[in-house]
Amino acid sequence: MKIGFIGLGIMGKPMAKNLIKAGHELIVYDVVAENVEQVVEAGAKAGSSARIVAKSCPVIVTMLPNSPHVKTVVMGENGVLEGAKAGTILIDMSSIAPLASQEIEKACAAKGVKMIDAPVSGGEPKAVDGSLSIMVGGDRSVYNEVKDDILLKMGASAVYCGEIGAGNTTKLANQVIVACNIAACAEAFTLAKKAGVDPALVFDAIKGGLAGSTVMNAKVPMMLEGNFKPGFKIDLHIKDLNNALDTGHGVGSPLPLTAAVMEMMQTLHADGRGQDDHSSLANYYAKVSGAKIGK
Ligand code: NAD
Repeated sequence: MKIGFIGLGIMGKPMAKNLIKAGHELIVYDVVAENVEQVVEAGAKAGSSARIVAKSCPVIVTMLPNSPHVKTVVMGENGVLEGAKAGTILIDMSSIAPLASQEIEKACAAKGVKMIDAPVSGGEPKAVDGSLSIMVGGDRSVYNEVKDDILLKMGASAVYCGEIGAGNTTKLANQVIVACNIAACAEAFTLAKKAGVDPALVFDAIKGGLAGSTVMNAKVPMMLEGNFKPGFKIDLHIKDLNNALDTGHGVGSPLPLTAAVMEMMQTLHADGRGQDDHSSLANYYAKVSGAKIGK
């Protein structure tokens, strides 16, 4: 099938490549020419704008940073809705505010474009090996139409969560858990270091027990190595926690743990670490304790 793919960053690039491997014909667009070139080398064709991509593709995937980017790409000048024909399917896989998904879907529906929100979890490694976890909101029949041939070519699972925006609400829950889990790891391993026990041995001792987690296995080795290359950037996680706090306040669900981790991430951002991986929460604890977990 001919698929338009817009947003070829850390995640979009490998996801687009997996669709090519699955036999789809891809037309791709990103504001960064270098990102486009890398996917063209893998077999895609370049489109010169979101409008041009939408003109020739019955299905469009977007993988952009946040709500304003998706609104611009879909509803803005030279955007998807200027080019798309009625009946086009838009799969927005970006992590954005659920209310923004609902607003964008309304604009799509007015032009006969069918939109689902389908954010992902798993990070770059799972984007590369095509084993992302995908959470979907929107019309169930659209989900059924794209599940096997498109979503499951990028992910190991794709779960239907409800109406439009439900995918992003699910993703916010995921991001709250990931942020608090990384912060708990950073706090605990800093405690071990300050108390004179080797954090690498603590990791070996506890990773198979109740405290062990996918987050611990992925992020504590980075803390031990002092490697904070993203992965998932602090600034993107700040974006998600902002969306979580806004959504929580809107529905009357206080998020005290999320608020605390948000301030740690804001401290790192102010320190010039916004482009670090979110495992850089270890650097917040290094700052307040004077002890580094790793190198
Ligand atoms: P990224 O910053 O690496 O990539 C975003 C891409 O969008 C960039 O290539 C950028 O040039 C492009 N872009 C921005 N504005 C554009 C526009 N107007 N038109 C065309 N292209 C535009 O971000 P990423 O890490 O790939 O994340 C993308 C989304 O996936 C985010 O919502 C993020 O929260 C989510 N996500 C990321 C991870 C991760 O581990 N990196 C994991 C799960 C979900």
